[in-house]
Amino acid sequence: MAKDINPSDGWSPCPKGTLTGLAATLKRREQIQRLQRISSLVALLLVAIAAGTWFSNRYSDGSMESNYGGITCSEVQKSLPEMMSGTADESLVTRINAHLVRCPHCAEMARRMKEHEVHAAAGPSIKPLNGDPRAVLLAAHVK
Ligand SMILES: [Zn+2]
Repeated sequence: MAKDINPSDGWSPCPKGTLTGLAATLKRREQIQRLQRISSLVALLLVAIAAGTWFSNRYSDGSMESNYGGITCSEVQKSLPEMMSGTADESLVTRINAHLVRCPHCAEMARRMKEHEVHAAAGPSIKPLNGDPRAVLLAAHVK
């Protein structure tokens, strides 16, 4: 650096390779920064995926296929109509009840099914005739 000083303007020509070296350094720094940005993004994404997987696993384990009272959710959901209609056997009902106490997902389902059942039992003869025009037509046709 010191040997080529030009006193008129105070500027010295760059030694060969300084600019390219600087450019390379800048480029490398930029690449490192980009890499860091990408890797932090990737890390964030991985965390999100991991959290999502964990959550969905937990969700599906927790509310779709829990085995409470010796019976799984899908079995409970399959047997609920039987239980509602009173055709399920005693031991099945006991197991379903034990399951429903501990599984809010199935309990909610049973509650809805019961509600539906009550509605269906309350007005099957009135509702179709008054509500659905096709049912009225059908009823008229049958008469
Ligand atoms: Zn359940």
